[in-house]
Order: sequence, then C-alpha cells, then structure tokens
Amino acid sequence: MGFTSLGLSAPILKAIEDQGYDKPSPIQEQAIPAVLQGKDVMAAAQTGTGKTAGFTLPILERLDNGTRVKGNHVRALILTPTRELAAQVQENVFKYSRYQRLTSNVVFGGVKINPQMMKLRKGTDVLVATPGRLLDLYQQKAIKFDQLEVLVLDEADRMLDMGFIRDIRKILALLPAKRQNLLFSATFSAEIRELAKGLVNDPIEVSVSKENSTAVTIEQSIYPADKRKKAPMLVKMIKDGDWKQTLVFCRTKHGANRLAFFLNKEGITAAPIHGNKSQGARTRALADFKSGEVKVLVATDIAARGIDIPQLPQVVNFELPNVSEDYVHRIGRTGRAGEVGKAYSLVEAAEASELFGIERLIQQVLPRLELEGFKPTNELPESKLDTRPIKAKKPKKQKKPNVDHQDGQRSGDNARGNKPAGKNKRHFGHNKPNGENRGNSGQSKRKPSNTKPKSNNAGNSGNGQQRRKPANRKPSGQAKAQ
Ligand code: AMP
Repeated sequence: MGFTSLGLSAPILKAIEDQGYDKPSPIQEQAIPAVLQGKDVMAAAQTGTGKTAGFTLPILERLDNGTRVKGNHVRALILTPTRELAAQVQENVFKYSRYQRLTSNVVFGGVKINPQMMKLRKGTDVLVATPGRLLDLYQQKAIKFDQLEVLVLDEADRMLDMGFIRDIRKILALLPAKRQNLLFSATFSAEIRELAKGLVNDPIEVSVSKENSTAVTIEQSIYPADKRKKAPMLVKMIKDGDWKQTLVFCRTKHGANRLAFFLNKEGITAAPIHGNKSQGARTRALADFKSGEVKVLVATDIAARGIDIPQLPQVVNFELPNVSEDYVHRIGRTGRAGEVGKAYSLVEAAEASELFGIERLIQQVLPRLELEGFKPTNELPESKLDTRPIKAKKPKKQKKPNVDHQDGQRSGDNARGNKPAGKNKRHFGHNKPNGENRGNSGQSKRKPSNTKPKSNNAGNSGNGQQRRKPANRKPSGQAKAQ
C-alpha cells in the first residue's frame, strides 16, 4: 500500500516524497486513517517505527481544512517528555508541512522563555512542548487553548516514568473538552491505561509490535565483565570494530562524564549527554555525534530518550538499567526503520538480577560473548528464563519533580538553581497571579506584552516558529487565506 491510498492530499504527499519514503510503515498504515476520521487513537509504538509521521501527517491534513489560528492560540498540541524529542518532532512537523500554510513551534525548558513567548504571539497551528514549560507559558498568558482541536501525548509511558503525571493532568484540565486525543506509548502498562481512561474517548487501538518486545532487527548480546574492566573493554570493542557511531548508556550523570573523559583520553572522541548539561551543550553533543565529529555519545536514559539518529549501528549498555523496560527503550536506538542494529551489554556479576529481569521481560535469554583478554574473574550467574507472567504495576504515586534533572522543567528556575517558592506552589492556582510566588525568577513576573524581542539563543531551532509560503498550493480553506 502506498501513501496515496491513505487519504492524504497533494501537499502532504509531496512532502513525503521529498523525504524519500516509498510506503507507509505499519503504524502509519493503521494510525493515519484513524486520525483522519477524527477518532481518538491509542497506539503502542516505539521510536523507530515511524510513529511521528503516523500522527503528524493526518493532523496536518485535518488542520489544513480548519479555521485560521488566532494570536497566542494553538490548534494541535503535541506533548513530549524530553527537549530533544520535542525538537525532533517539530523538525518533522516542519518538514511534512512545507507545502502547507501552517505554522509550527517548539517550546521546552532550560532555555529562555521570552523568545518563546514572542513566537507564540502570532498563533501556532502545531505546537510541540514539554509539559513544564507549557504550563509556565500558560501561566504567563502566552498561550491559549480555546482553539485546540487535537492533543497528542507522545511517549506517554516515558512521561509517566519521568513524573509528569501531575503536569499532564493540569494541562488536560485547561483544554477544551471537545477535542481529538492521540496517545502514543511504547507500552500499554496499567498506568498508561489508567491515564487513558480520563483522556481518550472510544479510542481505536493500534499496535505494531508485541507489547514490550524488542525490534526484530536488533541483534542483542551480552559480555560478562568485571566492573573495573568495562571501560577498557569498550575501548577494545570500538577500536577492533572500527565503530564510527556508538551510543553508550550509563546509569548516572557522573558515570557518563567519567566514561566520556576516559574514552577521549584513549583517543576516541566522546561526549556525555545528560540532564546536568545545558541545553546548548546537549544540542551540540548531539549535532557533533550526528556529523561524525564525535564517535561516541555517552548518555543517561532520560537524555537519550527521543534521540533520533537514522541507522545507528550499535548501542552499548555500559551498565544495565534498573528498570527493565528501559532496556527496550535503549536498544530501540539501533535497528531503526528496518536497519539491522547491534545492542551489546557489559554485565558484571552484581547486575545479575537486572539482567534476569530484562530477560524475563523480553522472554529471551541473551546470548553471551567473551572478549579476548577480558574473561571476568567474578563470574556472572547463569541465566534461567523466568516465564511467569509479569504482574501489571500499580499506578505509581506522583513523584516529586527532580529538581536538578528534569526535562520539560519550568522556565529555567531549576536550571538556575532557584528552587520553587514552596511545595505545591510551582504553577498557577495559588493566591498570586502571574507567577509572583515562583521563586525569584524575574522572567516569570513579566507579562508577555512587556517582553522585548531578544536574540534567540535556544540552540537548534528550539524557539523557531516556522511559517512558509506554500509552493504549488491550490488556495482552499480558511487556513490558507492569509
Ligand atoms: P520515528 O519512529 O517517528 O522516530 O521515526 C523513525 C525514523 O523513520 C525517522 O528517521 C523517520 O524519518 C523515518 N521514517 C518515518 N516514516 C518512514 C517511512 N514511511 N519510510 C521510511 N522511513 C520513515
């Protein structure tokens, strides 16, 4: 089946053609017609399946036929857990809407809020946002939801893992009741279903992979290892294999820093990417990695979520994640869009229980390899596959937001080390309007109308509202009549 049979119109088909996509991916085949019908959709799809186009393309199609967006309003809102994912999704929206007269914007925390407020003034057809910054912008009256037609929660499972549930509920309470809801998640856990209850209405459920299964195009294996030998092992693997582009996962920010430092010392260009890095540093590290200037990106789970690097040849788990599901997310960075990828894990004896948890989740014992000269002295216990079904987790209690390491955080307060004024006083709904009770962040007190345009230092297009004149476009519908 080609894209033409899905019900998309010429400007979108042309943009798809520009991307070189010949046929829709399975998630696109299922999601596009459902979204075009105006139905609510719950989709189980990991990154790498083409899910972004799965919701973006039909949204753009629907928006093209609607009313023109008013100043500070938004017609489609896409919420993502991380800044990187937000930026990527908006890049996609921008590419796919290039022959339409629709505007898109991205907003996330960790960068100045004022340029974002300026960009929102003209109104935005498709806004991609992280939850915290969106609430800040709403509080500062830079955004209005009366015209909202579609809401997308992208990587909803991750948003819950990152403790965004309270922010999401606050956002839902601000939106018009009549709207289309799309929920995309790698897995449909009990928590996701609980969230979905209050969100989607008679949804069409679509799914492209077995729940929690790993993509078939990923070859997975483990190297039993001694903790202290892991770094030299990784050096040997990279050098022997002449690896040009490797994503390595560490558990902690300090661990990621230390490993990147070690690799650089060994002559392998490496950059850490994690929540303690400024947005500029994160954007730079990712750009250098994509361009090949940096061979190894050493990431923590949160920072890595949403990184889209086509054809990433290998992923290495320098340490296994505490949460088994994160293993699936991590290795989903390789073997993307039909490419074969390799996922290696260096596993020390103390990580046996994490390994067994992962093997139970994916229902597969991972093959073990030995790297010459690195036979571990602390033996890793043998795996025995636990085939008992995994009980659905109870919905988690609301986590307190992590102050030093939160994507989608408030307007830089945390990034500048200013804690919120007090418990439960982070957003609106308190006695003082306009964020006066929000610490000493000067920006939060300003009204949008007082903001002066400032240079946009938000890194990679972070704040860029994007509006193009349509090419070869037949005029029809109010959205185009500008
Ligand atoms: P996503 O799962 O949305 O992160 O997309 C993963 C990658 O697949 C991105 O690099 C997309 O550009 C690419 N992609 C999306 N749809 C298609 C398609 N129909 N054919 C080929 N590549 C695609």
